[in-house]
Amino acid sequence: MIYQRSSALFAEAKKYIPGGVNSPVRAFKAVGGDPIFVKKAKGAYLYDEDGNKLIDYIASWGPLILGHAYEPVINAVVEKAQNGTSFGMPTEIETELAKLAISMVPNMDKIRFVNSGTEACMSAVRLARGFTGKDKIIKFAGCYHGHSDSFLIQAGSGAVTFGSPNSPGVTQGTAKDTLLADYNDLAGVKELVQANKGELAAIIIEPIAGNMGCIVPSDAFMKGLRDICTQEGILLIFDEVMTGFRLAKGGAQEVLNIKADIVTYGKVIGGGLPVGAFAARTEIMDFLAPDGPVYQAGTLSGNPLAMSAGLAMLTELNNNPDVFKSLADKAEYLHKGIAEVLTEKKVAHQINRYGSMISVHFSDEPVVDFTSSAKGNNETFKKYFHGMLERGIYLPPSAFESYFLNDALGYEDLDATINALKEIDL
Ligand SMILES: *Cc1c(COP(=O)(O)O)cnc(C)c1O
Repeated sequence: MIYQRSSALFAEAKKYIPGGVNSPVRAFKAVGGDPIFVKKAKGAYLYDEDGNKLIDYIASWGPLILGHAYEPVINAVVEKAQNGTSFGMPTEIETELAKLAISMVPNMDKIRFVNSGTEACMSAVRLARGFTGKDKIIKFAGCYHGHSDSFLIQAGSGAVTFGSPNSPGVTQGTAKDTLLADYNDLAGVKELVQANKGELAAIIIEPIAGNMGCIVPSDAFMKGLRDICTQEGILLIFDEVMTGFRLAKGGAQEVLNIKADIVTYGKVIGGGLPVGAFAARTEIMDFLAPDGPVYQAGTLSGNPLAMSAGLAMLTELNNNPDVFKSLADKAEYLHKGIAEVLTEKKVAHQINRYGSMISVHFSDEPVVDFTSSAKGNNETFKKYFHGMLERGIYLPPSAFESYFLNDALGYEDLDATINALKEIDL
């Protein structure tokens, strides 16, 4: 395939936009080469600026779980836009989406809408701090909770000490309140909790991780986290920006059967428009302004176009819960197909999968946390990524990203993907 016009557009974009993109992973830094500029999309397919048709395994990084330009969503947005795009005043549709979202997920009484997953996670942590009166949080290495300061933290010099900034611009002052633990390592969490007894507001986690590839927590780890939080008065925050309304109606809380204290949402809940949200039981949510002392606000929060897209999307998922099974079946089919080809080629690999999230790691050891995820062979990954792209298959341009299947993908698309892999020399 030819990606000539995309490359020209990228060169032009780089003159005016840092790195030519408005979010770094789009720039293909991890795999090399120029990113693809998309012109339009429908169902499972992207149509790029060079006239290529690509099978899409990203679906805008998750929101488009029913495929691109899904008609009920598009119609809802177009119709809503006729009446104005923003008012900065309450609208009925905000309550409609809130009511529907709360009815679909377990254990939540109230929800506040924001504009991104980043905002949702940032606000959830502030709320947890305000509610508990404590400052410190624990996060897990490799989990992504958006780009706000508290989360851009890497392990410090000693495991039981403070985190340190992993981006310039994040202060030591902020970093000292974020402690780092390893995913699936309950003993490590216990140590941190002991060493910081009475100082922790929250433990935040991707309940099924998707930002270091797809990583599934062990039962004992998740139950252990819940128990520690309950015993120590720490709030357990599930970052369900990726898993919410994707794994099941009730997201990871439902499939793992674990109740979180605060849950954050994004991606699917906005149906492809900028929406994030956080939810909790009434006692916690009542701490938020204007009822409570914890400040949080947004000029475009609850935007009518965004709410209409979210409402149309969640309505479809609520009325047709079989879609989650359909997606998981497709992911399983893809998993088997890819595993067979890689085994045939004698390429060391691990495939992690949960529901419609799946990732391929070129490694011979199980991928259970950030360290094991980072051991994947990136040279093989690059060949795999570009080989697939050459054959019209659009995969995440980084080994640390999960694929997000959308239900517009047909088995013929999955077969085309598996067959493309057969042709690649890895
Ligand atoms: C995408 C993502 C975020 C950030 O959401 P944005 O809308 O990009 O700000 C946070 N947490 C998780 C788990 C995500 O996957």
